[in-house]
Amino acid sequence: PNLKWGGFVININNAVQFQHLVWDRSMKKAKVVVDATCGNGHDLLYLAKRAQKGCHLFGIDIQMKAINSSKELLKTNDIAPDVSLTFIHDSHDLALAHQLKDEVIDLMIFNLGYLPGSNHKVITKPHQTIDAIDKGLHKLSKSGVITIVAYPGTPEGMEEMQSLTSYLSNLEQKLYNVCHWHPMNQINNPPELFILQKR
Ligand code: SAM
Repeated sequence: PNLKWGGFVININNAVQFQHLVWDRSMKKAKVVVDATCGNGHDLLYLAKRAQKGCHLFGIDIQMKAINSSKELLKTNDIAPDVSLTFIHDSHDLALAHQLKDEVIDLMIFNLGYLPGSNHKVITKPHQTIDAIDKGLHKLSKSGVITIVAYPGTPEGMEEMQSLTSYLSNLEQKLYNVCHWHPMNQINNPPELFILQKR
């Protein structure tokens, strides 16, 4: 089930790829973009390559190891000119309350779980994830977007996705559009995607 989009083939069953369709549209105008779990930097690089002049991107991660590998990836790849990048080594809920206190955010992304190839114990936690999403929602510009990829394939990931689902289902309809995308015919609980938009 592939979809051609701007010359690239997107596998519509894959949450990580599918969210690119949403990002591509946001990045045409975004001035402030936040990757709340920058990990090895693949998502941040995707965004930085599509950023418009003057766009400011923030990469947050709780692990210095992740920040360093994101920095390295972005340094060794061509990104759009006149784009600024700030890395924040902190938990995303705290970074949004402090370092990003005064930002108006156009696009914020979360890729939950643990850093691939690293300590699986350092993993996103439901209460911090929800706190960060809640803070992010209050900072969104009009039509600003948050995307969240959740990994229900592990017990911790499933628990986190369930907490997220109940939190998101109760967001005020007048204020936010809230969508849940999930593959329907795949075994083993593949990743799922949530898309939130300020109305
Ligand atoms: N987006 C990344 C990429 O493209 O390479 C992958 C992200 S990885 C699945 C999840 C990341 O979330 C890990 O690097 C982990 O250190 C980070 N993380 C876990 N808890 C966090 C928290 N409370 N605040 C910020 N980052 C956190």
